[in-house]
This record gives sequence, structure tokens and C-alpha cells, in this order.
Amino acid sequence: MSARSRDAQICTATRAAQVTGGAAEWGGKRAQDALALVRRHGQAGDLPCVICGMPIDYSLRHPHKQACTVQHIKPRATHPHLTWEQSNWAPAHADCNTAQGSRIAVGLGLVSPWLS
Ligand SMILES: [Zn+2]
Repeated sequence: MSARSRDAQICTATRAAQVTGGAAEWGGKRAQDALALVRRHGQAGDLPCVICGMPIDYSLRHPHKQACTVQHIKPRATHPHLTWEQSNWAPAHADCNTAQGSRIAVGLGLVSPWLS
């Protein structure tokens, strides 16, 4: 491979990273799809809340405090590149998720329950 084509490949990779990178904002259609996926897997596997360990009633919907939400195992604040990484998602109660906020302690080292 010539140096020139190797450079071209690096350029392409960098451009791809710029397109997907920095998309740390959680919301819109992507977040809805993420929640649907987490809820589907959570319901199928009867997965408990990743924060408090209690069961989740997957029939509940936002804005119910016990509804299923997407918890980022590694927080977006410190791991923005993992925002849309499915292995970084896990089900959690809405109020647990809110209470935890962007604090790091809970959940670090955990692996998403359906991909482990
Ligand atoms: Zn909980």
C-alpha cells in the first residue's frame, strides 16, 4: 500500500469520527429508539433496575417515576463517545436515573446486561 492511499484511509476514518463524534446530546428519535430497545430487552429478560436492583414495570411510561429509562453505565458526561453505544445502555427507573444524574460511582465496571 502506498503512503498516499494510507493517508486517504486515515482521512476517511477521521471524517467518520467527526460525523458521529460530539453527538452526546441525548434526545430525539435516536433516544426514543434507544429507549425502545432497552425496554424490549429489559422486558424480555425481566431485567431489574441497574441502579437500585429492584424490578421494573415495563408497562409504565414516562413521566411515571418508576418507568423504564435508558441508563448510561459509563456516564455521558465523562464518556460522551459512548452515548450511542448499546453496550453502554441498561434499564433503570426514571427516578433512579434522575437521582444518579451524571455522578460516576454507580454502575462503573458493570456490563450491559444483555450483551454480557
Ligand atoms: Zn431503580
